[in-house]
Amino acid sequence: MKVSTKLELIRQQINDACLKVDRNPKEIKLIAVTKYVSKERAEEALEAGVYDLGENRDEGLLEKWEVFKDKPTWHFIGSLQTRKVKNIIDKVDYIHSLDRISLAEEIHKRASQKVKCLVQVNVSGEESKHGMSSDEVIHFIEQLQPFENISVVGLMTMAPNTNDIQVLRNCFRKLKELGEQIQKMKLDYAPCMELSMGMSNDFLIAVEEGATMVRIGTALVGEND
Ligand SMILES: *Cc1c(COP(=O)(O)O)cnc(C)c1O
Repeated sequence: MKVSTKLELIRQQINDACLKVDRNPKEIKLIAVTKYVSKERAEEALEAGVYDLGENRDEGLLEKWEVFKDKPTWHFIGSLQTRKVKNIIDKVDYIHSLDRISLAEEIHKRASQKVKCLVQVNVSGEESKHGMSSDEVIHFIEQLQPFENISVVGLMTMAPNTNDIQVLRNCFRKLKELGEQIQKMKLDYAPCMELSMGMSNDFLIAVEEGATMVRIGTALVGEND
């Protein structure tokens, strides 16, 4: 299936999910995750009307950045090694995987202007997932105050790999509650309005639970229909 056809379908599904819970679809940024696909396939997404691209490795990001430059909004969504920060820092608009102070230090040091970051939370507590546990988030964000080049615009999570809708829902709900707690702290450097949650298998539940960014790879740009 062409990317444009899939995009239309996904946008329609997002609209329906929004209707169900009385949300405005304009609140939701659709990020095309192009990590498994060619530049050509990524270009199809841009031509079909996607504005946001997500990559999870520095090599993948740099390779596609060479082609598309500043045309898309770039999201770095993978776990980020400290020594790789310098490679991507002036190319990305959002980093979704801030999960430790040493990484914050490096981002602050290398950035020439404020970088929009999301704190990655391992809500489900699965060992295989990156991110900090829910009960560490508030303290972590308090520690970010000295890093003037970091703006904590939101939280990100990856839900467990399951088809159990209730488990997924609970995971997204917890992230939303955490985001609201942080908003109440009214920190200038951490407005925390964004919730980056939902992938190919669970983005509709994430939208129902308040996602403002969904990260969709397989369902949008995957080559197998
Ligand atoms: C790969 C990836 C996605 C997209 O996954 P799909 O299931 O293909 O939609 C989203 N978020 C992160 C962090 C990823 O690594």
